[in-house]
Amino acid sequence: MGKLRVGVIGATGMVGQRFITLLCEHPFFTVTALAAGQRSAGKTYQEAVQGRWQMTEPIPDYAKNMTVFDATLDIDLVADAVDFVFCAVNLPKAQVKELEEAYAKKEVPVISNNSAHRGTPDVPMVIPEINAHHLGIIAQQKQRLGTERGFIAVKPNCSIQSYVPALTPLLLCGIESVAVTTYQAISGAGKTFESMPEIIDNIIPFISGEEEKSEQEPMKIWGSVGEHGIIPATSPVPVTDGHTAAVFVKFKNKPTKEEILSLWQSHAGLKKLSMLPSAPKQMLYYLEEDNRPQPKLDRDKDAGMAITLGRLREDTLFDYKFVGLSHNTLRGAAGGAVLIAELLYMEGYISAKVDK
Ligand code: NAP
Repeated sequence: MGKLRVGVIGATGMVGQRFITLLCEHPFFTVTALAAGQRSAGKTYQEAVQGRWQMTEPIPDYAKNMTVFDATLDIDLVADAVDFVFCAVNLPKAQVKELEEAYAKKEVPVISNNSAHRGTPDVPMVIPEINAHHLGIIAQQKQRLGTERGFIAVKPNCSIQSYVPALTPLLLCGIESVAVTTYQAISGAGKTFESMPEIIDNIIPFISGEEEKSEQEPMKIWGSVGEHGIIPATSPVPVTDGHTAAVFVKFKNKPTKEEILSLWQSHAGLKKLSMLPSAPKQMLYYLEEDNRPQPKLDRDKDAGMAITLGRLREDTLFDYKFVGLSHNTLRGAAGGAVLIAELLYMEGYISAKVDK
């Protein structure tokens, strides 16, 4: 079976660069089109990312000399060259919505990192290990769009992936309330220490729009939680990659610490997804050391696709507190989107285009 041809829209950005490295020699997919905004369009990929390549590994050879398309003006050319696209662009929401729907209506499935369509009811927002069954809504979306194979699927915000996977198995105990403070890496805003010098030796107690996403997105995944939902606070911190969450949780039926650890352990494997190339060996790892998890030591666990947890202990106001960590541009962005695409492929939602 040949590989599916994939395009990356927003290929030059922080998340786009992750896609370019993750898709190098991918067993299911091969990159056949790159697109970005006007400043990159018409350049080779190597020229377009000159001076802003942020990955530790070099630009893969396959991408260096590909010409970058204009994501909006060259939509027909991109659509002809691919079976589906990943999308990670920095544009106002209304423009992202329009762009993604334009690709879907050209019969190109779009797997998106952008937040624009996360609230659209018939667009599934998926963490494969948690709510793969939401993909069933795609049939309804295609009816609305009037498409045969085009649709949009999205992954959730990067920060919720540092705690939603840990809270999901605990829903069994009846979660009453949750408060979360996230300490977010600057790559989450597409920034580096050079482009965000104000973060060095500093903490900024606000990320625009982020707390609303933390309130709304877990509800789309779970349906509801407790009386008050999630009470979030978010701050960027001087870390390159890896979002950390301090989580406080109160239960209707308070479990013991051993029961929580056992629920995390039984949720850890999720064997049914283990055949997907980007799936971690385990989704959740609990670290016993008092000073873990740490972004520098733990963000790359299982190629940045695992969530590491630690410091589970009783709380005087809530029942328990713990710390979660996930890699924001891998599990939280490009890696999470590639995992969704692998699942869509295995389940027959995306396939090679048949020429008519
Ligand atoms: P970024 O580094 O600023 O990259 C933005 C990309 O958008 C670049 O490829 C840029 O191309 C392209 N672009 C700009 N204007 C465009 C236009 N008019 N048409 C098409 N493409 C255009 O941003 P990022 O951090 O990669 O984030 C991209 C998206 O992913 C955002 O919606 C963000 O919220 C989301 N996201 C990011 C993270 C993360 O950890 N960074 C995690 C989850 C989700 P040029 O080269 O032409 O400028």
